[in-house]
Amino acid sequence: MNIPFVGLSIQHKHLHNEINSAIQGVMNRGDFILGKDVSSLEEEFAAYCGTKYAIGVDSGLSALELSLRAYDIGPGDEVIVPALTFTATAAAISFTGATPKFIDVDPETWNIDAEKIEEAITPHTKAILPVHLYGLPADMHMMLGIAEKYNLKVVEGACEAHGAMYKGYKVGSLGNAAGFSFYPTKNLGACGDAGMITTNDAKAAEKIRALRNYGQRVKNIHELHPSNHRLDSLQAAILRVKLKHLEEWNASRCRISALYNELLSNADVTRQMKPPGYQHVYYLYVIRSRNRDALQAHLKGRGIETAIHYPLPVHLQPYYAKGEDRHGQFPIAEKLCNEVLSLPMYPELTEEQVEIIVSEIKLSQKTAV
Ligand SMILES: *Cc1c(COP(=O)(O)O)cnc(C)c1O
Repeated sequence: MNIPFVGLSIQHKHLHNEINSAIQGVMNRGDFILGKDVSSLEEEFAAYCGTKYAIGVDSGLSALELSLRAYDIGPGDEVIVPALTFTATAAAISFTGATPKFIDVDPETWNIDAEKIEEAITPHTKAILPVHLYGLPADMHMMLGIAEKYNLKVVEGACEAHGAMYKGYKVGSLGNAAGFSFYPTKNLGACGDAGMITTNDAKAAEKIRALRNYGQRVKNIHELHPSNHRLDSLQAAILRVKLKHLEEWNASRCRISALYNELLSNADVTRQMKPPGYQHVYYLYVIRSRNRDALQAHLKGRGIETAIHYPLPVHLQPYYAKGEDRHGQFPIAEKLCNEVLSLPMYPELTEEQVEIIVSEIKLSQKTAV
């Protein structure tokens, strides 16, 4: 028995013909750079998220970086960001020349602790970058209230939350702008690197279109930061095929998570708390265990692949710690990093596989006592 952590090959087998003809369409037209499929995907993804605009880029990292640049965030500015996230969230801030200002996460939802945002605000603070961690929306009501009070921008880190809903609204439609990643394993994934920005702000959208294409508003006039962050037409063509299945895949992830929840209810593990009115899309199904490492080793021995998101909070990453000992600065994020374990999660995972995974978790706990 072998249960992989992700199951992309199963998904691609089902879509084989559709993906091949989408690729062939691009090959026949030859519009490889910012072609027809890029603009069509942008329209379709904006409609899906309920925003006026969507702009395709080359990665989730670029999506966040260009969203910040669209609001002139740069050297001397500070952007508030959770300590528990993928490094890309902070890297996007660093790439603009601004400084990430880390804050701790909420012990229940594991998302940015909105209560701690105000005390981290300084005269240099320009924006908040909340992350919808593992697919669970952050507390956007609090975030937008604080942003209004202090005149800050909110850029949603939506890289793990395609299709998640916050009180009836899709993530990506709540802040000033949002960055999505189409990294292959994400709920909507390309066959390579790709990303997208959503916004309702016409000025920001126009600026981002120039920023992704060497700062050109007019051909050959490089007015803004000149860099290349274009989305490939081939990736856009593949993503258009997959976008049609996103809702059904997310529903499947929700069913699998409900089964995990039910079967794990009498096991010695805890989970991320989902507040009422929040719709999680389970990019990851993450449990918390005091014996995480032993549990992971046990599952590995039984052919069950798991992962850790993330083994280190961002402030402890060598690049950000800069030789300082920053242990203890954000205790909740640090503790979670020692205890979280991501279980296999993908739309094609079967009930039987979930049952096997859970019974092995329970077995591991029995033998640990
Ligand atoms: C996947 C991800 C990103 C961006 O990923 P790319 O590899 O740049 O597409 C950013 N933030 C978070 C939280 C992510 O999970």
